[in-house]
Amino acid sequence: MTSRTITNALTVDFEDWYQGIEIPHTEWEGYEERIRESGRRLLGIFAEAGARGTFFVLGAIAERYPELVREIAAAGHEVATHGWSHTLVYQLTPQTFRDELERSIEILQRLTGQTIVGHRAPFFSITRQSLWAFDILGECGITYDSSVFPVMNYRYGIEDAPRWPYSIHSGSTRLTEFPITTVRLLGKNIPIAGGAYFRIYPYALTKAALRSVNRSGHAATFYIHPWEVDPEHPRIPLPRRIALTHYFNLAATERRLKRLLRDFAFAPMGEVLATQA
Ligand SMILES: [Zn+2]
Repeated sequence: MTSRTITNALTVDFEDWYQGIEIPHTEWEGYEERIRESGRRLLGIFAEAGARGTFFVLGAIAERYPELVREIAAAGHEVATHGWSHTLVYQLTPQTFRDELERSIEILQRLTGQTIVGHRAPFFSITRQSLWAFDILGECGITYDSSVFPVMNYRYGIEDAPRWPYSIHSGSTRLTEFPITTVRLLGKNIPIAGGAYFRIYPYALTKAALRSVNRSGHAATFYIHPWEVDPEHPRIPLPRRIALTHYFNLAATERRLKRLLRDFAFAPMGEVLATQA
């Protein structure tokens, strides 16, 4: 099987720039809104490439900018949920997680007419501390999740979780987990599939890694945020580690993304999983 025959999942975590930074949510109100411009820029890049993907939309964004959600759906993308408040799942109670999830699904269904079946947790925060989330996702009609990062990171990761899509049975429900894509190197899982990693590694390395994933017969999932194609978004003082990954090489993202969309076949995650079932 050649890599050309494999279709990968193109995904967007649809949130504004300050929502993707670990800062108290009470600070959000003071920051400049960029999501309409950056979101439309990303939609334009996808349209130009003829690429469709899955947009994991934050409920708080859908409530404030309903027209953006309608535009995403009208462009042929799959709309899925990124929860409501961008709080780490393991910092929520199961009841609050359920309330936020239901609220986000309700508004996204109302705006798009689509049945919402996909979920990605903020900061990939389904970890060993929050595995209870799968029961709730299944009970709320979610059939696939893409929140488990099989790596060790200071705020996310289940290091020894499976690296390829797998079924999770919980109670009377079953859902599919599409883990964030990694490659094996020196006995470790190395993240290669988007976000800061896409900006930090040279493009040739990302391309070679994704090719190797596809050559092994697997579909990868690639993820990006609207603020990553908006290099002019505000700079705020942050701890060094956070600032480095958030702002690193933003100016290169758009050019790299266009190359990626030429070099690989992509589809929404729901469609990729349907062909594997
Ligand atoms: Zn997010």
